[in-house]
Amino acid sequence: MPQTVLITGANRGIGLQTAKELAGRGFRVFVGARDERAGAAALASVGSNAEVLVVDVADSNSIAAAARTLAKTTDHLDVLINNAGIYPDHGVSILDVTRDRMVETFQTNTFGPIEVTQAFLPLLRESSAARVINVSSGYGQLDGLSSSVPSYCLSKLALNGVTIMLAQALQSDRIAVNSVCPGWVRTDMGGANADRSVEEGADTIVWLASEAPMNLTGKTSAIGSRFLGEDRGHRNDAS
Ligand code: NAP
Repeated sequence: MPQTVLITGANRGIGLQTAKELAGRGFRVFVGARDERAGAAALASVGSNAEVLVVDVADSNSIAAAARTLAKTTDHLDVLINNAGIYPDHGVSILDVTRDRMVETFQTNTFGPIEVTQAFLPLLRESSAARVINVSSGYGQLDGLSSSVPSYCLSKLALNGVTIMLAQALQSDRIAVNSVCPGWVRTDMGGANADRSVEEGADTIVWLASEAPMNLTGKTSAIGSRFLGEDRGHRNDAS
């Protein structure tokens, strides 16, 4: 039976690259997309063992509907990758950021991963070795915070806290939960000047999904370190 993976925000960027690579490793891939047509367009490049699952991670009804749909399609989920994210406030000072902007960012980057994990937990519990991977950022580390990227930094800092708490809460279920920073990656979010390709950005995520030891849990990684060299530090220019 092939391993199953759901990746949110997999219609483009790092999520799409991760989908391609895990499909190439034999996974049955559920390509999470909030827009069904964008998901369907991405499918062609992922391969035949992939399906679109419509899920807007900022919308509770959409998350619940997606969990119901997936439960009709598969009896277990081995890997959940909370990848969908927004980066709406580059250049906005913490002195000016609005409450609405912070709420908007947290809805997608922080509350989304919590609620998605809760909703898919019944299927994760049916896996013999389930993993949850939260795609975070160097901006989400205490020593990576930037006062000119306020809502994004705070949302990813909180996401790292979510990772630690989920890992604790799911230890008895033997579900491994980790965060990863993909580095500064050439996507719509990272821009053309970023120093890493999507392949490099997806590298540690793919490793966590397919090869990492199951006793690795509750970690918030440095960039692409594969958790083995967390003392290598992080880059301040990574979003
Ligand atoms: P991207 O190219 O902008 O893609 C973002 C993806 O998230 C898209 O598929 C987008 O869907 C989806 N998305 C946004 N809001 C969503 C929602 N409410 N529900 C479902 N999907 C939603 O970004 P990326 O560079 O691949 O980033 C992927 C992850 O890596 C993010 O969590 C990001 O914070 C993190 N990251 C990126 C970098 C970087 O340099 N690129 C650095 C550090 C961390 P639509 O197409 O529908 O908008």
